[in-house]
Amino acid sequence: MRVLVTGGAGFIGSHLCERLLAEGHEVICLDNYFTGRKENIAHLLGNPRFEAIRHDVIQPILLEVDRIFNLACPASPIHYQYNPVKTVKTNVMGAINMLGLAKRVKARILQASTSEVYGDPQVHPQPEDYWGNVNPIGLRSCYDEGKRLAETLFMDYHRQNGVDIRIARIFNCYGPRMLENDGRVVSNFIVQALRGQELTVYGDGTQTRSFCYIDDMIEGLIRLMDAEGDDVHLPVNLGNPVEFTIKGLAEEIGKILGMELKIKYLPLPPDDPKQRKPDITRAEKLLGWKPKVPLSEGLKKTIEYFASRIKNEKIASA
Ligand code: NAD
Ligand code: UDP
Repeated sequence: MRVLVTGGAGFIGSHLCERLLAEGHEVICLDNYFTGRKENIAHLLGNPRFEAIRHDVIQPILLEVDRIFNLACPASPIHYQYNPVKTVKTNVMGAINMLGLAKRVKARILQASTSEVYGDPQVHPQPEDYWGNVNPIGLRSCYDEGKRLAETLFMDYHRQNGVDIRIARIFNCYGPRMLENDGRVVSNFIVQALRGQELTVYGDGTQTRSFCYIDDMIEGLIRLMDAEGDDVHLPVNLGNPVEFTIKGLAEEIGKILGMELKIKYLPLPPDDPKQRKPDITRAEKLLGWKPKVPLSEGLKKTIEYFASRIKNEKIASA
């Protein structure tokens, strides 16, 4: 099949392009390189089944494809708040353009949605039928509400035009190729620890997240795209249901590195969700999927990745 991956030069997108190529598909990676990097896909460029296009999803594009993974959107709070109006446009106009393309060429399309559609949840853990607790006018709204409206568009194109849709609600995903400076907690803590700096814990560190390793996430996304049946167009949570406090995450990293890590407490950003953990019953039932990689194992691989980048930086600046 010919598969389009928007946001294909980003963290999740580049791993997805790799996996799709390994499965024998033709892959078109579309990216505007806002938070993506050419080096994430450099090793794929020699593959005759791989093609990269610089394009912004807020503009329409016509391509002959069988499947579309719509991942284009900055994922970290620092980047999606840098130009919030652009984030809304990417989510909304990007979804309209990609759904329009899917409708025209009769492609199946998967949306990378997010656990942020649940906002600061009052139901715990979060099942897909929970409607969420989202501030519509806060600093995170451009992302949260943008993703919620994208889900609305997906469901309406499905009901109105029969577009074959899939919606993955992705919970915090981590692994190699995250940007070291994008402000997400896993990359921040690892890079700070490796540089001998204090770990910046926002608030008192009792807020929780559930961290899913990239390989598990890619398996879930592929299974969801391939799934057939009555309910597969409904949103599906993809995440690791093992929940950690942010302080607990810092301790895990300290344990792996065998270091006593110092913590610096900073103010909690506004609207920061207090707890988050996916109910993955639907993914287990529809896709036979659940994560396999424990946090300690995934963190080790991620630490190796950042350690080698930091070493290369030092060599380059020497
Ligand atoms: P990322 O920032 O590494 O990747 C996003 C990619 O989209 C980048 O390559 C960026 O350059 C590209 N992009 C951004 N705006 C674009 C535009 N207007 N046109 C074309 N390309 C554009 O982030 P990621 O972690 O790989 O996330 C991928 C997707 O998964 C995003 O849609 C994100 O919202 C979603 N998601 C990620 C997580 C996570 O924990 N990583 C959690 C929930 C949802
Ligand atoms: N966080 C933190 N220190 C950091 C970065 C993030 O304590 O250096 C906290 C943040 O306040 C949030 C959690 O870690 O409670 C996860 O943040 P991230 O930005 O990774 O993801 P999201 O908030 O989107 O789930």
